[in-house]
Amino acid sequence: MGAGAATAAATGSGTTVRLPLASAEHERAPAPSPRRVYIETYGCQMNISDGELMAGILERRGYAVAETPGQADVVLVNTCAIREHAERRVLGRVSQLNGLKRDNPDLVIGVTGCMAQRMGDTLLERAPYVDLVMGPDGYRELPERLDALAEPGRRLSVLSLDPAENYEGLEQRRTSRISAWVPIQRGCDHRCTFCIVPYVRGPEKNRRPEEVLAEIRGIAAGGVTEVTLLGQTVNSYARGDWNFARLLAGVACIPGIRRVRFTSPHPNDVTPELVAVMASEPAVCEQLHLPAQSGNNRTLKRMLRRYTVESFLERVEMVREAIPDIALSTDIICAFPGETRSDFEDTLDLLRTVRFDDVYTYRYSPREGTPATRMPAHWFIEDGEAAARLRELIEVARAVQTEINRSEVGRVEEVLVEKEARGPGQMLGRTRRGKVVAFSAPTSLEGAYATVELTGTSGATFTGRRLANGSQPPEPT
Ligand code: SF4
Repeated sequence: MGAGAATAAATGSGTTVRLPLASAEHERAPAPSPRRVYIETYGCQMNISDGELMAGILERRGYAVAETPGQADVVLVNTCAIREHAERRVLGRVSQLNGLKRDNPDLVIGVTGCMAQRMGDTLLERAPYVDLVMGPDGYRELPERLDALAEPGRRLSVLSLDPAENYEGLEQRRTSRISAWVPIQRGCDHRCTFCIVPYVRGPEKNRRPEEVLAEIRGIAAGGVTEVTLLGQTVNSYARGDWNFARLLAGVACIPGIRRVRFTSPHPNDVTPELVAVMASEPAVCEQLHLPAQSGNNRTLKRMLRRYTVESFLERVEMVREAIPDIALSTDIICAFPGETRSDFEDTLDLLRTVRFDDVYTYRYSPREGTPATRMPAHWFIEDGEAAARLRELIEVARAVQTEINRSEVGRVEEVLVEKEARGPGQMLGRTRRGKVVAFSAPTSLEGAYATVELTGTSGATFTGRRLANGSQPPEPT
C-alpha cells in the first residue's frame, strides 16, 4: 500500500432518481422527494472509491446525491485511519457538521471507513451527535441501516469484518468522465508493523475477473479511456487461475481503453510475467509506484516488509531493463522505531541510487493497535530528530526529482487533459508517465488527448505547449 493520506471530497452532482409510478392515481399524487445524501471522503484512493460505492448503493435505493451537507438528510464522513492527525481532523469536522442539526434535527450523521472501524463504539461515546458508525465491510447494508435509524433515539455501529465481502455485483457512482478507479481487491494479507489497514479492512479479497472486465467494458463504453486498478497490494491479485498479470493484459485489450495504471503494488509481487505484460501491452502506462518504505535492511525487517534492499533493487533493475523510460515513484517512512542515523542515511542512498521520479515522504506516526507501537520505548525517535530527518528526506527526494524533470524539458508527450488549471486559459493534464503538465488549451479539450511539448518545470510539475495534433474527447458508445 501507499501510506499516503491525501484528502479529497467525493461528492456528486445532485441527481434526482425518479421511482416508477404504478397507476394513474399514483401519477396524480405528488412524488415524494428522495432523501438526499452527502458523502465527504478523506484518505486514499481506495477510500474515495468506497465513497463512490456508497453513493452508488444509495442512489439505486432512491437517494439523491446532495451538493452540500446543508442540503442533505444524511451526511456520511468517510474516514481514513492511517495517521492520527487525519483522525483528529475528522473529529473536528464531525463536530462542525453537528451544527447543522440545529436547523435540521432529523439530519443523520454517519462516520464510515477505516477510522470508524478502528474507533468503533468509542466514536459513538466521544461524539454523541454521531448516529451511525460503519466499517468498510458494512456498506452493502447501508440503506437498511439508515432506515433503522428512523426509530427515535436509535444509534448504530456496524463493525463486523466480513472475509468474503468484496462488493461484487455493486457498481460505484462514478463522478469522473475522464478517468476511472476500479477496485479489484480489498484488504491485505500482509502485516507491516506500522500499518493499520489489515486490522480495519481485513484479509485480502479479490473480485471475479469476469466482473472486473465487464465493469471496465462498461466504463469504456461510457467514453472513459483511462482506468487505474486499485488494491492494497494490487499485484498479489489471484482468483482461480487468474493472476494480476493476466488481468492486467485483459484490461489493456479492452477496446476504448487507452491507458491502464495500477496502484499500489507490493515489490515482492513484481514478477517477470507482470513486467512482460507491462512492457508489451501498449495501453499499460510507463509508470510504477513501488513502495520501498526504507533503504535499510534492519528497518525493513522491523517493518516486516518481507524484502531486502537488494531484492528491491533487483525488481527496479528488472523493470527498467524491460521498460527503460518508466517513471518510478515510492513511499518512504523515516524515523521508524529503532532507525539509527546511519540506517536513515541508507534510505537517502536508496533515493540517490534509484532516482525516483516522485517520493511520498512520511515521518513515522504510531497507530494504536499496530505491532510497531509495542516496540521498546527507547527505539522511538525524539520529535525534533524525526522532523529533521523528514526535512532531509524531502530535500533529497526533491533534488532528484528536479534533476530528472529538468532533463525532460523538451520532450513531446501525449497528455490526457483532465481539468482547468489555475492560470487563465490553462488546462492541466497528465502524461503517460504520470507527470502533470499545465498548458494553454480550451476547456472543450477536457477528456481529450493532446500532444504537448514540455517547455519548463517547477521541479515537480511542468508547463507545456500544445502542438497542432491531438484528439477530441471520445463520445460514449
Ligand atoms: S500491511 Fe503493508 S502491504 Fe498491507 S496495506 Fe499495510 S503497508 Fe500495504
